[in-house]
Amino acid sequence: MIDFRLSDEHEALRKTVEEFAQEEVAPVIGDFYMREEFPYEIVAKMGRMGLFGLPFPEEYGGMGGDFLAVCVALEELARVDSSVAVTLEAGVSLGAMPIYRFGTEEQKQEWLPRLCSGAMLGGFGLTEPGGGTDAGATITTAREDGDDWVINGSKAFITNSGTDITGLVTATAVTGNSGGRKEISAIIVPSGTPGFTVQPKYSKVGWNASDTHGLSFDDCRVPRANLLGERGRGYAQFLSILDEGRIAIAALSVGLAQGCVDECLRYVREREAFGNQIGTYQAIQFKIADMEARAHTARLAYYAAAAKMMRAEPFKKEAAIAKLVASNAAMDNSREATQIFGGYGFMNEYPVARFYRDAKILEIGEGTSEVQRMLIARELGLV
Ligand SMILES: Cc1cc2nc3c(=O)[nH]c(=O)nc-3n(C[C@H](O)[C@H](O)[C@H](O)COP(=O)(O)OP(=O)(O)OC[C@H]3O[C@@H](n4cnc5c(N)ncnc54)[C@H](O)[C@@H]3O)c2cc1C
Repeated sequence: MIDFRLSDEHEALRKTVEEFAQEEVAPVIGDFYMREEFPYEIVAKMGRMGLFGLPFPEEYGGMGGDFLAVCVALEELARVDSSVAVTLEAGVSLGAMPIYRFGTEEQKQEWLPRLCSGAMLGGFGLTEPGGGTDAGATITTAREDGDDWVINGSKAFITNSGTDITGLVTATAVTGNSGGRKEISAIIVPSGTPGFTVQPKYSKVGWNASDTHGLSFDDCRVPRANLLGERGRGYAQFLSILDEGRIAIAALSVGLAQGCVDECLRYVREREAFGNQIGTYQAIQFKIADMEARAHTARLAYYAAAAKMMRAEPFKKEAAIAKLVASNAAMDNSREATQIFGGYGFMNEYPVARFYRDAKILEIGEGTSEVQRMLIARELGLV
């Protein structure tokens, strides 16, 4: 039997995060966004709530929950603000998850307790200035020298890589050649390592209260023990992390799409035109009905992908579908919401303007929409 209800635990978490987002994030986040400032206090509160440790076992400082719990939390946060949501998404699925999935016991003991508590953030360095989609074309290198790796190269657009609480970035680098193919490995680079430079933050269209930097490595030395997982498996490891991350980004996208509905439902009951609330006009009602339908169907898509993943069944196609339709829903809903708000929708002080700016990256980050279509086509046997 198919049961689309959240469990009691997931529902309780959803409610808690909803209250936190509405009461503690919504009133202040617009100002952080306008100042392009990272909201440390909000992130610290999310840490105290255990959100950064949701899917990790208690022995590493986690909450012992599952991946759906993270998704539910992301959806509720993104209903209010995507910068805060992506800080959590990247903290969990890009910062801590690679260490949990592929790290040695020593690496897990060293890093996970702080990452799970939210006291520390980790970055995921795959994309390079020369390309993100073709991640196998990595040109950053790491050569062995005595007991060290010596890393040279650069990374672009790395989330959570330059905050005051960033403790590490896991970077992919070419560590050799095997059978004429590049051998790509993942290496943990602690913040502050000599030769590791965090570039000034980008000026972005959206996600303005989140942290994104380019990184450069100039003869940056880290111990050989910082290799994450098997040598030569870095590319495959990162691709599997991205499969999971797509479900999380889909949940975040659904949150944004639903947040557009929330804002419009309030506004159309207040705003009047031609002597009536604009919500009485069918043209407006139909827009909101379409927005709700998009958010609803995208939510079902990410629930289905998360369910397959948690049953340990292949979920690549479902994750790609969820990300594709949910990011589409976020884009469409933010465009319609801005239209419904009229001129006020173009003013930065209104959340829908923020949603409009934040929606676009959802079609780009963690695999563009073209990549999702490629993955779906490949899963259908089209090669
Ligand atoms: C705010 C932000 C945060 C990010 N955070 C991170 C992070 O934490 N870690 C990280 O590693 N990366 C991160 N990224 C990078 C992001 O994942 C990449 O931008 C994305 O994967 C696309 O790579 P690209 O920008 O190099 O575009 P390109 O790969 O240059 O692609 C350009 C265009 O060509 C299309 N394209 C490429 N190849 C094909 C093909 N074969 N067929 C059809 N179309 C194709 C793409 O879909 C895209 O439309 C972030 C990006 C942003 C903007």
